[in-house]
Amino acid sequence: MKIRIDAERLWKSLMDLARIGATPKGGVRRIALSAADREGRDQFVRWARDAALAVRWDAIGNIFARRPGSDASAGAVMMGSHLDSQPSGGRFDGAYGVMAGLEVMRTLNDHGSVTRAPLEVASWTNEEGSRFVPVMMGSGVFAGIFPVEEALKATDREGIRAGEALDAIGYAGKPGAHKAAAYFEAHIEQGPVLEDTRTTIGVVQGALGQRWFDAAFTGQDLRKDALIAASRLVLEVNRIAKAYPDYARGTVGFMQVAPNSRNVVPGAVQMTVDLRNADDATLRSMADDLEKCVAAIAAECRVAAELREVVYFPPCKFAPRLVDSVRQAARDLGLTHRDIVSGAAHDAVYLARVAPTAMIFVPCEGGISHNEIENARPEDLEAGCNVLLHAVLASA
Ligand SMILES: [Zn+2]
Repeated sequence: MKIRIDAERLWKSLMDLARIGATPKGGVRRIALSAADREGRDQFVRWARDAALAVRWDAIGNIFARRPGSDASAGAVMMGSHLDSQPSGGRFDGAYGVMAGLEVMRTLNDHGSVTRAPLEVASWTNEEGSRFVPVMMGSGVFAGIFPVEEALKATDREGIRAGEALDAIGYAGKPGAHKAAAYFEAHIEQGPVLEDTRTTIGVVQGALGQRWFDAAFTGQDLRKDALIAASRLVLEVNRIAKAYPDYARGTVGFMQVAPNSRNVVPGAVQMTVDLRNADDATLRSMADDLEKCVAAIAAECRVAAELREVVYFPPCKFAPRLVDSVRQAARDLGLTHRDIVSGAAHDAVYLARVAPTAMIFVPCEGGISHNEIENARPEDLEAGCNVLLHAVLASA
C-alpha cells in the first residue's frame, strides 16, 4: 500500500505559518528580508530541526533542510519554493511548496523510510521581487544566472541593500558547492484552468517564455495626442495575443499619462508591454509584430515612439522523466490530472537550467493569487503533496 502524507499536519503548518505577517483580510505580508520574512524563516528552521533535518543557508540566504540517504555520494533530490510574499499576498503562493516539502520529510520519518539519495527542502530567497530586483533572486544565484555579489548589491526604495537586509535578519550564510540531482516544486496554479476543468493535479510541462518592454509615445507639439497612440497600442497588443497560438499572452499592465489633467492634451505616455508564448520562435515573431505596430502607430499619429526590451525569459521545458513521474504518481493515486503550462515564472524555471526539474500545480479558488483572498482547498493541497511524495520517491 502506498504511503500517504498527513493532511491535517500539512494544513496546520500552512495555517500556523500564515499567522506570521497576517493581514486583516486573511492574507500575508512577508516581504523579502523583512522582520516578518525572518519570523517565517525561523519557524521553518524550527520545524525542520524538529524533523531531525540538517539545516544550513547559503550566501544569498537560501535555506536547505536535508535528510540523509543511504548513498552519501548521491546528489540531493530537492523540493521547495519560497516563503516571501507580495506586499498583500496570499497564504499559499510559495508557502505551499515549502510546507509540502517539509510534510514529505515528516511522512518519511513516520514510516522510517530510507531513500537512496538525500532529500532536501529549499526555501529560495526573494522569489517575488517586490522589494529587491531581480525576482527569483535566490534560485537565480543558485543556478548561476547572476553572481551573488551583484544580487547582494540590489537596493530597495529606501536605499537599503539586500546584503545589509540579509545580515540584519541573520540569514547571510556561506557559499558552498551544492548539486541538485532533481528538483520538484509544488505550487498553486495562479490561474483558472484546473478549477474550470475540475482537475486536481496540473502536470506542468514547462513555463511560457516572456519578453517585457517599456514603451513611450511623445507628442511632437502640444496638440499631438500621445494617448491615442498608446490606446491603439493596447488594442494591438491584445490582437497579437490572439494571433499567435498556443498559449500566447499579451498585456499592457501599466500606463502613465502626462500631464494627466482633464483639460490638457496628453503629451506623453509611458507604458509596459508583456508578451508570452510557449515557443521561442513564436515569441520572437510576436516581438517583431509589436515593433512594427509601434512604428506604424507613431507614423500615423505623428508622435515620437520608443520601445525598449527590459526582460527576456526564454520558454522553459521541464525534464520529461520527472514530468512523467508526476503524471504517474497522480494516476497511481487515482487523482484527476491534466498537462498544463505555467504562465508565470517560478524558482523551478531557474532550477531547470542546472537540474532535471518538474512542477506540480493544484487549483486555487477563482485562479486568484498575489492577493489576500487567495484560497486553496485542503483536499487539493493534500493531493498535490501526495503526488510530490511519490514523484520524489521515484527519483530518490
Ligand atoms: Zn510563488
